[in-house]
Amino acid sequence: MTTPPLFPVRAPSSITRRSFIAGTASFAAAVLLSTRSFGQVTARPKFSAYPFTLGVASGDPLPDGVVLWTRLAPQPLAVGGGMSPDSVEVSWQIADDEAMTRIVHSGTAVANASWAHSVHVEVEGLRPDRWYWYRFKAGTEISPVGRTRTAPAAGVPAERLRFAFASCQHYETGLYTAYDHLAREDIDLVVHLGDYIYEGAAIPDRVRRHNSGEIIHLDDYRARYALYKSDPSLQKAHAIAPWIVTWDDHEVVNNYTGDISGKPSTTADFLLRRAAGYQAYFEHMPLRRSAQPHGPDALLYRNLSYGQLVQFHVLDTRQYRTDQPQGDGNKPPSPVLMDPKGTALGDKQRDWLFTGLERSPATWNILAQQIMMARADKTRGPEVTYSMDQWPGYEYERRRVLRHLHDKKIKNPVVITGDIHTNWANELIADFDQLDSQSVATEFVGTSISSGGDGSATTKNIDLLYSENPFVKYFNAERGYVRCEVTPKTWRSDYRTVPYISRPGAPLQTHRSFIVESGRPLLLPA
Ligand code: FE
Ligand code: CA
Repeated sequence: MTTPPLFPVRAPSSITRRSFIAGTASFAAAVLLSTRSFGQVTARPKFSAYPFTLGVASGDPLPDGVVLWTRLAPQPLAVGGGMSPDSVEVSWQIADDEAMTRIVHSGTAVANASWAHSVHVEVEGLRPDRWYWYRFKAGTEISPVGRTRTAPAAGVPAERLRFAFASCQHYETGLYTAYDHLAREDIDLVVHLGDYIYEGAAIPDRVRRHNSGEIIHLDDYRARYALYKSDPSLQKAHAIAPWIVTWDDHEVVNNYTGDISGKPSTTADFLLRRAAGYQAYFEHMPLRRSAQPHGPDALLYRNLSYGQLVQFHVLDTRQYRTDQPQGDGNKPPSPVLMDPKGTALGDKQRDWLFTGLERSPATWNILAQQIMMARADKTRGPEVTYSMDQWPGYEYERRRVLRHLHDKKIKNPVVITGDIHTNWANELIADFDQLDSQSVATEFVGTSISSGGDGSATTKNIDLLYSENPFVKYFNAERGYVRCEVTPKTWRSDYRTVPYISRPGAPLQTHRSFIVESGRPLLLPA
């Protein structure tokens, strides 16, 4: 569409009032971001430039609602985003047509200055399993239109879910060409598995350049998100469908675990940094208020359902994790890896996951998480090396998870993974010391959007990789994302890759596809 029609001319205060008066069938509550004081709230802000520079987004779809997100930032890289210290009233509309002529709900929210003038609207009262379009207005400025979709009603035997999952989008190492392609996919939602930003200092002679030194404080994290979210390809990908997001390490700092990173070296100082990272993440993601951080704590793990077809178990394998065992390459079951106190999930999240899996009515149970669960030996030589930052570093708990999937006969567990900037398709076998043991789940590891720069379709000694790890059915080191189509009978994963990202215009191809049949956790060639 071209110029969007103007909002009805009405003072924002009267919009608020009307919304509350209308509170019957057609009214959807705009749940404000925070119950804390907004300070001064301006209803008629003046901006130094267009304020919707970071685009719009939606997320965490339910059968009757979705989160709508934007942030006001006329000068995105400036401290404060170029906004005055006042909070700002923002109105929103959601329609069932792209031209925004049939508005089904509208309301106002506050872009709270203490939350970087971000807006999180939890729209309710929508109808299940359909497309909607939305936009925001602040002062006289109107945002781009985004498209979103509600989930099918709980218990409905939905016929199909199409989604894509992505991760690891280092800004400096390449262009977001993969997101240009993803934005053209016919998909209902996007899952992002972390490393949405990278915390490192600008490094010269790369494809693009970070805006600052290493980020430590809240304003640094905010500016880094603003840099990343200024990318038009990323904005397009957010505008086509709701996203379900979780974080990995680089949203705070490389390979941190729990309250440990080694930088800053004291726990108290690190927790300040973690709080800054978590706050900026929330400010820039379409998350519900339930995920709003309180200091260094934020509840990010959660369930989302797609009718009876799919349940997403979205995990946080960073916040509650014990430190990586010392010394890469420990061969399980060395005592350090079999320490029952070692955990990637933490006791509470693991209990929640186990209970959620047992109670799930879904045909497919998706563990949307960060680190590779298959225990692959990556040396391709006589010695054996497992990455201690991945699930094999938490071998005791890894075995508990796989045993739970097996013993409780969890229906069709599928693990989707990010983190390692390479594509893998793995069968998760019951016992990785018995390579002929039965498979209890499948794992699709998606490569990076851009981290690692131009990739390659294969790697040296690829035959050794496959022969030493027969449960690994596919490896690829190009950039891209994974597109999935889920039906009651089958799961299909398409590894969508681009051959380069150091210059624009790379074409997309489906490099490999796999099918999983319901009831048989095996990777079949498509
Ligand atoms: Fe990464
Ligand atoms: Ca990572």
